[in-house]
Amino acid sequence: MNQITQEMRNLAKQLLEEEKVQLVMGWEKGSFWYNSTPVFVSKVEDVDKLIWDEFCAANLATYLLDDRFSDEKIALFVKGCDSRAVNRLVQDKQVKRENLYLIGIPCPGMKSAKAAKELGQETKEELPLEDKCIYCTHHNPLVYDILLGEEVALDDIAATAEVSRFEGVEEIEAMTPDERYAYWQDHYSRCIRCYACRNVCPACNCTECCFDLGQTWLERDVTPTGNQVYGIIRAFHVAGRCIECGECERVCPMDIPIMKLNRKIAKDIEELYGPYEAGLDTETPPPLGHYKTEDPDEFM
Ligand code: SF4
Ligand code: SF4
Ligand code: SF4
Repeated sequence: MNQITQEMRNLAKQLLEEEKVQLVMGWEKGSFWYNSTPVFVSKVEDVDKLIWDEFCAANLATYLLDDRFSDEKIALFVKGCDSRAVNRLVQDKQVKRENLYLIGIPCPGMKSAKAAKELGQETKEELPLEDKCIYCTHHNPLVYDILLGEEVALDDIAATAEVSRFEGVEEIEAMTPDERYAYWQDHYSRCIRCYACRNVCPACNCTECCFDLGQTWLERDVTPTGNQVYGIIRAFHVAGRCIECGECERVCPMDIPIMKLNRKIAKDIEELYGPYEAGLDTETPPPLGHYKTEDPDEFM
């Protein structure tokens, strides 16, 4: 067992025994060697389920939405991406910071579960990182009550250091409108409208989602047009609030490059409104969430 796993279990046990929290959210080993899945521990005798390994990619913060109206105190392990998601939920007033006990874990990057499945266990040491981790700009938690382990330096993670935040967006920008339309039509024609991308997203935190309301102007059939409308509406709804955690793309069973769309919008927002990354704190308002008289308005 690695040291972080031991520290996680010890801390979870202490927090539950001292009744400082009623629930601990972490990861446990899943059904396969390349899966580590969320686990919710409310009894001391279950703390040994908790683990930390190279497959703990799942962002736990989204699960706080299940308890958003509860006053239970919850402990949560947060990597860099999870901590940004917590900030997103606190800023959106979906959870109360005082109800959370955040246990930060610096993250060197998680291994790709899809590659692991394809290549087999003997390749474990050479597996590539999850795409979301290659693009990661914040490996260390941005907010926490206690930190386990040592902070990691971005430059030490070779795969990440070589990739810029908006890599790949230029390819989309270089296309003609017709080529761009064909590109997205091709990808979204594969979408099965499973809504995994929405369900896993910390920025998709509306109490009622427009895609569940059954309004006739939102086509619910799985058709190329309906799928594109879904993709565009979801991208607009998280514009300026997307924390770039890459979870939507990671969980998409149809390998749709959702992050290209999110990164394009994030890049446009930077160019229009200045440098901005969502979820770094809970104070800075998202650029599209407030108004300044000098905001660009040529498009209006
Ligand atoms: S996105 Fe960053 S913080 Fe999140 S799992 Fe990947 S490397 Fe870790
Ligand atoms: S996860 Fe992928 S397949 Fe499922 S709704 Fe989202 S884009 Fe479509
Ligand atoms: S849209 Fe995707 S990358 Fe952005 S916050 Fe949601 S899950 Fe994360």
